Amino acid sequence: MVKPLNHLEYYRLPRNYADNGISWLEPTTDCNLRCEGCYRDPRGPGHKTLGEVRTDLEVFKKLRKSDCMIIAGGDPLVYPQIVDLVSRPISEAL
Ligand code: SF4
Repeated sequence: MVKPLNHLEYYRLPRNYADNGISWLEPTTDCNLRCEGCYRDPRGPGHKTLGEVRTDLEVFKKLRKSDCMIIAGGDPLVYPQIVDLVSRPISEAL
């Protein structure tokens, strides 16, 4: 009998309880720069709603045990609710 896959058993290293060391939150694809080599499409979907960001955070909380989270994009500093997003603990944001 084949053992069913369990995502909670993936990527676990010895003495590391994080399933994914880093979670990568991208609240926006917008950016005012055009760095050479950037893989972002500047015509991308733009800003996520706070509800969409909250959904991303819920996925992180449910499926990952990250040690930290990176807020990226695009440029997260052009995200209109960036202050609101970073000024509360994740537990309050959910
Ligand atoms: S998203 Fe990042 S890499 Fe791309 S243009 Fe903006 S700052 Fe540069």
